[in-house]
Amino acid sequence: MTARIQSESPRADKETRKVLSSGGVIVDERGRVLLLRRADEGIWCFPKGHVEPGETPQAAAAREIREECGLLCMIGRKVSEIRYAYYWRPDDVNYDKRVVYFLARPESSDIRLEDRFDAWRWVSPSRALRMLFHRNDKDVLRKAAKAAGLTATRKT
Ligand code: ATP
Repeated sequence: MTARIQSESPRADKETRKVLSSGGVIVDERGRVLLLRRADEGIWCFPKGHVEPGETPQAAAAREIREECGLLCMIGRKVSEIRYAYYWRPDDVNYDKRVVYFLARPESSDIRLEDRFDAWRWVSPSRALRMLFHRNDKDVLRKAAKAAGLTATRKT
């Protein structure tokens, strides 16, 4: 499937909103990683979402994972923090977004996707590296794999 990325480069003439999000690199007992595919853009990513006022990033990661794919997860150590900025035409603003990622261990097995996703896959870290679209998400995966004691190298 081809990517249909809807974010654009930040625009100097538009307001910028700072956002903090939090998410999880979910690793199962077989060392596989869970990726979700966004229905709007057709790209693979990790579950994540906004940290609400008064909420810890860990609690937000657990809640967002539950909402987006139905899994109950134990949130582990922080693996990475990324930052990206984009202009979002539907809101006519720039977003300056930070996303904190944690290792997460599933404590349930039934996956139920939110409407904004149209597919899910448990994959090896090497495969996840090829499937993820955004370069900084690939960096998150590499760090998470290392923290979880897995390898995430391209197989030739
Ligand atoms: P959320 O509620 O999880 O913040 P969202 O869809 O509102 O979800 P993003 O997931 O940040 O926000 O997506 C907004 C835009 O940013 C999309 O075009 C997406 O492809 C892009 N995007 C998502 N992750 C990254 C990333 N790691 N680096 C750069 N751009 C990204």
